[in-house]
Amino acid sequence: MMKKQMSSSSNTAGKKLSKDLDRHLNLTLGRDNCDVNTSHHYLYKSLGKTVRDRLISSWRATRCHHHEDPTRISYLSLEFLVGRSLQNAILNLDLEESVKDALHEHACELEDIESEEVDAGLGNGGLGRLAACFLDSCATLNIPVTGYGLRYHYGMFQQTIRNGYQVERPDMWLRHGNLWELETPEYTRVVKFRGRTEYYHDDHGHKRVHWVNTNDVLAIPYDMPVPGYRNETVNTLRLWNAEATDEFNLDEFHAGDYTDAVAAKNRAELITMVLYPNDSSVQGKALRLRQQYFLVSASLQDVLHNWERRYGRDFTNFAKNNVFQLNDTHPAIAVAELMRLLVDHYWMEWEQAWTITTATMAYTNHTLLPEALETWSVELFGELLPRLLEIIYEINARFLAQVAEKWPADVDRLRRMSIVGEGDNRHIRMAYLAIVGSYSVNGVAALHTELLEKGLFRDFYELWPEKFNNKTNGVTPRRWLAHCNRGLASLLVETIGDGWVKDLSELEKLKVYAEDSAFAERFMAIKLSNKERLAALVAHDCGVSFDTNMIFDVQVKRIHEYKRQLLNVLHIVHLYDRITRGDTNGMYPRCVLLGGKAAPGYFIAKLIIKLVNSVAEVVNRDARARPWLRVAFFPNFRVTAMERICPGTDLSEQISTAGKEASGTGNMKFMMNGAVTIGTLDGANIEIRNAVGADNFFLFGMTAAEVEQAHTNYDPNSIIAADPDLNRVMSLLESGQFNLFEKGIFDPITQAIRSPTDPWMIAADFRSYIDAQQRVCDVYADKPMWARMAVLNTASSGEFSSDRTIKQYRDEIWYRDV
Ligand SMILES: *Cc1c(COP(=O)(O)O)cnc(C)c1O
Repeated sequence: MMKKQMSSSSNTAGKKLSKDLDRHLNLTLGRDNCDVNTSHHYLYKSLGKTVRDRLISSWRATRCHHHEDPTRISYLSLEFLVGRSLQNAILNLDLEESVKDALHEHACELEDIESEEVDAGLGNGGLGRLAACFLDSCATLNIPVTGYGLRYHYGMFQQTIRNGYQVERPDMWLRHGNLWELETPEYTRVVKFRGRTEYYHDDHGHKRVHWVNTNDVLAIPYDMPVPGYRNETVNTLRLWNAEATDEFNLDEFHAGDYTDAVAAKNRAELITMVLYPNDSSVQGKALRLRQQYFLVSASLQDVLHNWERRYGRDFTNFAKNNVFQLNDTHPAIAVAELMRLLVDHYWMEWEQAWTITTATMAYTNHTLLPEALETWSVELFGELLPRLLEIIYEINARFLAQVAEKWPADVDRLRRMSIVGEGDNRHIRMAYLAIVGSYSVNGVAALHTELLEKGLFRDFYELWPEKFNNKTNGVTPRRWLAHCNRGLASLLVETIGDGWVKDLSELEKLKVYAEDSAFAERFMAIKLSNKERLAALVAHDCGVSFDTNMIFDVQVKRIHEYKRQLLNVLHIVHLYDRITRGDTNGMYPRCVLLGGKAAPGYFIAKLIIKLVNSVAEVVNRDARARPWLRVAFFPNFRVTAMERICPGTDLSEQISTAGKEASGTGNMKFMMNGAVTIGTLDGANIEIRNAVGADNFFLFGMTAAEVEQAHTNYDPNSIIAADPDLNRVMSLLESGQFNLFEKGIFDPITQAIRSPTDPWMIAADFRSYIDAQQRVCDVYADKPMWARMAVLNTASSGEFSSDRTIKQYRDEIWYRDV
């Protein structure tokens, strides 16, 4: 009886959805449903609008509800790598059955139209994707978090491969409009640039500052809904769009300078034109600083304006109820901007404003690489943001007085810790500004936090040990398991129920099934069908045929020297060398997939892409290699591709130089989907290995401490000379075997490997990597053994849910006593 009622009510919901779909198709879009030419495009659009309608009332309800609760967490990030929204919304709103039925009436499956949605690629890689996973978890945990970002007109570039080289094309993701945004011009803010400061006395004789003669830019918000998993909560991602204050400057126009007037409009709108495509490195361009300040100023004004509307100018409880979580140093200027707004706009005393600022700012560090630590030249900063520079000087003066008090006469320490770096090029150190202005500083994996405390931020840790804490990253199990791996998700629901979708620690219950051979076989049958789906994608996008009987060995992530795609290539060349010499004893056939984008200005990273493609071409063309080895480079790696790649992977390559990868999150997606990791003791790999057990993880390479040690007398040439396998690999590369028609192009790569100053220690870890890869072959040949490892990886992945991470942010950073 119960069951019948439920199914009839869901049936009603299904009919309603079907009607709404037709209404949007016929009335909103003006298409005909008996028109055989009704394309998937219009079906996608009408389905999107139908789903969106269902989000909107919960969205409003969530806003009303949050209106009663003064708590507001603002997550400030220059990147949100959201990917597609339709299926995520359908999953989170529990609309799958209704949608399926409705689409059947159009002789269509959801898979047929999903490809009509383009990825929202407003991020580079891990950092931006983390922000998107966090928003999903915050909504699911019903925490009042607003994401603040920029509405780039061009997101992450589209990568194509021509003659083996990366070619970048603009990502015009807004060309067909964006279903998932709502323009909310009523929340428009004005952001100032340039000009100068003027001091004056107010009516009470207090000294005040005006920032005058500024160039103003309008910040128009576009809101995207962030639905929680089946809990009626819909949070907001607010993306700011830059627009000129007037269509164009009328004075200039009347003076006859029409082109200058229009140019000014373009300058304003340039701010949100394009995402900077650098991951883990900075360019120091003025436009980037303008983007950072634009995001920060508009967002802080938005929060303060909302506060004022509800509580007037009484800020007594502001710090108690507000947190600004800074996703890396990119929005670190928030520290100075909040001071400016409180002091100049709300006429607050400096000390009181500083108390509020340092009780509301929280900073997440994402990297130990020096090239990623942002600094801005004082000259540029002063020209673009003169008032902010004054404030930073004041913050620094007061801070250094504090340091001098604790360590009298320690001039060297003062110089080291100063927010303003002295020397020929005076510069603002954004990470230091973030630390000084925040009550919480966190790293993103245990090792990373430890290295911050002992290394990069040691002086600050000695001053304020209580600020430092760790929050190991996570990924959302909705997108990265329930959605992307339907087969495994059903098996899990059948075996341990569906509690894991909201509480991933329940995957523990799976551990006993690792010993159940019938279960393990079903688990591996699902893996096989995911490998088939992946093979189809690789055939389509790379033109390489993958054999699902082989090991699917995958490394997809941004191309960066520290991630060591090069080490992977050396292994491929080593296998190829063995094959051509007839030495296939103990080898297990494998298909190796690499993918990822290189920053357009990063020469060596782009050359690595060319090398992968060149090696792939030689290997794939060689009939001797065909039974043993296939290699493909996956073009335009992005969120949607990852959703297909991680479920079909056997072996997850996480092979960064120890001490360089802050956490990694790709490692977690693979683990959840039953891939086994080959990896170094770096970032969250360490925690992954602890969770799954050393026996179920292929470890190799030096530790972070050993890497530090080894630099002192590193001699790659003698390592190469002493290892016949590595020697042959280097000889093959240097002989031009893979670049017969482009002589010498890989010299920079082989020279880097042979350099005693190679920071990435490729040669040092080669032998132990090759040995670990042999252990992979040995285990894979034992099907039940591999299956057991794969099951245990999924079963042990519970702690890598971003729900766990966000609960820790909530309990240990956001909800605190002020
Ligand atoms: C998860 C993810 C990343 C991060 O991968 P890492 O291996 O942690 O660097 C980057 N890009 C996309 C598209 C992702 O989905």
